[in-house]
Order: sequence, then structure tokens, then C-alpha cells
Amino acid sequence: MTIKNSFKQLPDDKGYFGAFGGRYVSETLMPLILEVEKEYEKIKDESSFKEELNHYMETYIGRPSPLFYAKRISEDLGGPKIYFKRDELNHTGAHKINNCMGQILLAKKMGKKRIIAETGAGQHGVATATVCALFGLPCIVYMGEKDIKRQSPNVFRMKLLGAEIRSVKTGSKSLKDAMNEALRDWVTNVRDTFYIIGTAAGPHPYPAMVRDFQSIIGEEVREQILKAENKLPDLLMACIGGGSNALGLFHEFLDDKQIEMIAVEAAGHGIDTGSHAASLSGGKPGILHGNKTYLLQSNDGQIDEAHSISAGLDYPGIGPEHSYLFEQKRVHYMSATDKEAIEAFQYCCNLEGIIPALEPSHALAVLKKIAKNYSKEKIVVMNMCGRGDKDIFTIAEELNIKL
Ligand SMILES: *Cc1c(COP(=O)(O)O)cnc(C)c1O
Repeated sequence: MTIKNSFKQLPDDKGYFGAFGGRYVSETLMPLILEVEKEYEKIKDESSFKEELNHYMETYIGRPSPLFYAKRISEDLGGPKIYFKRDELNHTGAHKINNCMGQILLAKKMGKKRIIAETGAGQHGVATATVCALFGLPCIVYMGEKDIKRQSPNVFRMKLLGAEIRSVKTGSKSLKDAMNEALRDWVTNVRDTFYIIGTAAGPHPYPAMVRDFQSIIGEEVREQILKAENKLPDLLMACIGGGSNALGLFHEFLDDKQIEMIAVEAAGHGIDTGSHAASLSGGKPGILHGNKTYLLQSNDGQIDEAHSISAGLDYPGIGPEHSYLFEQKRVHYMSATDKEAIEAFQYCCNLEGIIPALEPSHALAVLKKIAKNYSKEKIVVMNMCGRGDKDIFTIAEELNIKL
């Protein structure tokens, strides 16, 4: 049954969320993308696929992740009851593995023998290398030369897991270029290769597929919050890089129209400085990585480099579904600066004994500011999408602490 005016039904069969999304790829890539779409559509509701995925979600990733009442932060802010969805407790320390597990099981079903991926901060590369080791498939990770230097602990992790890192020296030598290089690899290795994309972006069906694999987050939250509070949350919050953890939390609730949703982009040094990663607050629509969406770009359409202290938010685009939810005003998009994120990071360490990743620290920074607008009976669920172990060196540098 299709529900009228449902946000959950999208994309349409061409992969559009309103004006955004689609499939802007070369002719050589088209048959590959269509094959992925066909196979994904075929297996996604099959009970054997769901059972296999669930098996690994439980026994390997450690799902369901807990829903934790952050009592001290709630009391300190004097506003609503704040819950953290603790996806930072997943194996490999973030939500990314939810999606990698789904995609590698699909790749196996399709008989693919070789996995490629792109990574910026290295988190998606680590999650991909992990599932490749688990299933014994060779893993090639494209990574900008600049990011290889900035993210050496994750580069080492990927190597320990048996992945091959290919340094990308073109363009800005960062994530956007790594993604282009991975697409190029895919075209030349048509038959045996599967491309695991790390966020809800890329050509159709990736934005929908990644969202679907992450939606386990919101599905668990619905059950957990009903058990804890006997009602649904009033506000959901998450940070945005490409937008997969936010959609993972939001998707389940998009048609519960009374529930407010706030997604937080990285404002870097400040939106007005031009040095940020806020594609919706500071960008405009264009085409990148096979889809139409909001992008950071100059007046002549060149893609601008993004900046955020948090490498995971450092992407010049945003998944197309967010561009749609933004224009529909279903989700509100706000931003937090590097400085605000670091303050929220320390605040969370001290009040809850949780070292958050810098990415969700952006969401917490905004929550700190707006909590006073919500009364004590209100319930907020924030996605704690990653843990901060990977960020300790960045924090030490920012705070001028010698390790
Ligand atoms: C990669 C990453 C993000 C950003 O990606 P989304 O697709 O927007 O979720 C956010 N948080 C963490 C911890 C990450 O590793």
C-alpha cells in the first residue's frame, strides 16, 4: 500500500527525491549501476538475506546498540530528557559498519570477487577492510594523498586488516578525488568488482540502499524509547557528513509528522569564512558523484574544498535525500563550528564518561544551545554515531596538549 504524502516511499523508480538524486553516470557505468539496483531490489526483502544480515548485526557488530539516558547532561542543560543512541559501541567504533555489512553481503550474492571503496577520514575504509577480511575478499581503498598523511592511524588499521591503499594524487588529493578514482576503477573492472560507497550519496540506488542499511538505527530507537518512556521522542538529532547516520535515525520516523528533526552540518571556522563543510547552509544544487544535490561550489561551478576539524564531515556534498528534506522543510538543518564541537566533546567526556567522536560532538553542540527551548517532559534522541578514540590526536593538537 502506498501512503499519500509519505516521505518514506522515496526515491521514485529513477532514483529521485523530488528534484535531487538520479543517476548521472557515464554510459560505461550504467549497466553496472543497473545490475546493482536489480540485485538489491531482488534480495532486500528476501528472508534469507535479512536473516544473514541480522546474524552478523547481532553476533559481529554487536547490535542492538543501547539507548542511554544521559541524565547528567539533561539535568545540567535543564531542558528535555536527552537520550544517546549508542552506535559508537558498534564493532569498529561507528555506524559505518552497518552499511558495509549490508553491501558486502549483496556483493557476495552477486558473485563479486573484488571490493573497492573510497575513504576520507578512513572510517569507511576501516569498516570496508573489516568486512572484506571477514569474508576473505580483496579490498582496495582509494584515499587522497593528503588524507593518507592526516589519518595515519586509520591507514595503519586498514593495512593490518589486509587492505591495499591506493594514494590519489589528482585534484585536491582528498575525498572527492578518491571517489572519482574509485568510479574510474569500477568502469575498468566491470565484471568482478563491487563498489561499497560509504554514505547516502552516489548514483541511484546507493543513496536509498545505504539509508536502508542504516535504518536499523531508528528502528531500534522506536522499540527502545517505547520501552523506556512509553512514548515516541519529540526531537531527533544527528550530525551530517554525507548524511547516512542522520537518515539511519530519521527514516523510521519521517512520517511521524509531530516529531521534529534537526541535522547538524560542520560550520568549520564559520559559514561566513567560506571555510566549512555545510553544503545546505552554504552551498547550492549541482552534480557530483553521480547525483544531483546541494554542493559547495564557486560561482563557475568548481567544487570547493570542504573544511571541518572532523574529517568525517569534510565532504563538499550531501546525500540527495537531505537536499529534498531540506527543501520540504521536513528536517531542519543547523550547523556547529570546530570550536563549538570541541567544547561539546569535552562536555560529554566530563559529564557522561563517554568520549564521543568529533562528528556527533557537532550535534551535541547544537543541542546544548537549544535545550533550553524544550520543557522537561520532552524527549530528545541524539545519535552518538562514533567514538572519539580516533580523534584524540586532533584534540590534543587543538588544545595544545603534548601526548
Ligand atoms: C563518516 C562519519 C560521519 C559522517 O558520515 P554520515 O554519512 O553523514 O553519517 C559521521 N560520524 C562518524 C563517526 C563517521 O565516521
